[in-house]
Amino acid sequence: MHGDCPRATYSGLFNDGKPSSLHPLREAASINHRPTAASASESAVTSALPSRASRLAAALAQLAIACLYRVPGFTRRVASCPVCGGKPDRLEFNAQYSPLDRCGECGHVYSRKTPKDLILHLMYRDLEYWRSDKVHQGISRIEYGPQWKEFLDARIGSLKSAGALMDVPERYFEIGCSEGILLRELANLGHEALGCECNRPTAEAGMKKLGVDIRIGLFENIPLPRAHYDVVASFHTIEHMPDLKSTFAKIADILKPDGLALVEVPTGPEEYANSDHVHFFSVGSLKRLMENHFEQGEVIGNQYMSAGGVTIGSLYGIGRHPIASPGVSVECGSTGGGLKCTASGTCSSPQTMPSATAISTQPCQTTPKSPT
Ligand SMILES: [Zn+2]
Repeated sequence: MHGDCPRATYSGLFNDGKPSSLHPLREAASINHRPTAASASESAVTSALPSRASRLAAALAQLAIACLYRVPGFTRRVASCPVCGGKPDRLEFNAQYSPLDRCGECGHVYSRKTPKDLILHLMYRDLEYWRSDKVHQGISRIEYGPQWKEFLDARIGSLKSAGALMDVPERYFEIGCSEGILLRELANLGHEALGCECNRPTAEAGMKKLGVDIRIGLFENIPLPRAHYDVVASFHTIEHMPDLKSTFAKIADILKPDGLALVEVPTGPEEYANSDHVHFFSVGSLKRLMENHFEQGEVIGNQYMSAGGVTIGSLYGIGRHPIASPGVSVECGSTGGGLKCTASGTCSSPQTMPSATAISTQPCQTTPKSPT
């Protein structure tokens, strides 16, 4: 669930502060993409530049998103830190769609408004998103081939460095798997690999061209078996996800008790211009997030200083031994943590529901709102 990031990030093997790869490897693992009738055709993927029609469609979508952010009901207000619950101590940045606040306790920077479904649909709607993300990396075709080598070397290197890639067959789940090239590589190595992707055109193209299995939709809404996976991985995706608490409760829920999570996020103030990101992690806030949900939480920096003296790069969060969530807060009539309240405004919200991965068809609680 991410979009036209204005610069490439570096991703790959963990190191001690220098970019591990001299080539930008910005990942396109999108979460909340949806199809539209006007989705770019697959042939658009192979073109070096977006068509005039694509550019116009993107500009119109951006304008619509900006308008919707100003209309009540299309976003959610975030009053406290999504990592630690602390209060904001200052306005950090006025981003394109929403102000960004900084948490006074853990330093996490987050969007004051997070998008609901319609905005997410507009943000992540077509295959052009994939194309624009991969073209920086010299990748113009989804088909398995040499163009993926450097990208996959970085991904596989990250998994190995985190201790997440074993010689014995394991079960992997990737959140925001985009076209699914990593799933294909893991399967080639003898593992069982499944991913989710909400950009339907991208997921469908990947399933067709790579022969991988991708669940289309939002991670939080996809039924998955509990305590099933050895590894849950996500590269440049969680910074797009509005509800970190529900997301990580579900990650912990689907992992085996000795399972491992690996997430990579971009970092650095220049990321503030990325209008589809709603989280901007520091080492401290990512570590706190991992420690909230895992017995062992660790953060490894892949940061470096640019020629202009700006810290850029990415952070890897590693969590080992998931902690069972005490519950997931779900707004009435909404979804979260794999649960769905079907009461549609008849109960006081939000409610804390037991952590589970199957979507519940039950109302989120039994006490109806008083008639007004
Ligand atoms: Zn905080």
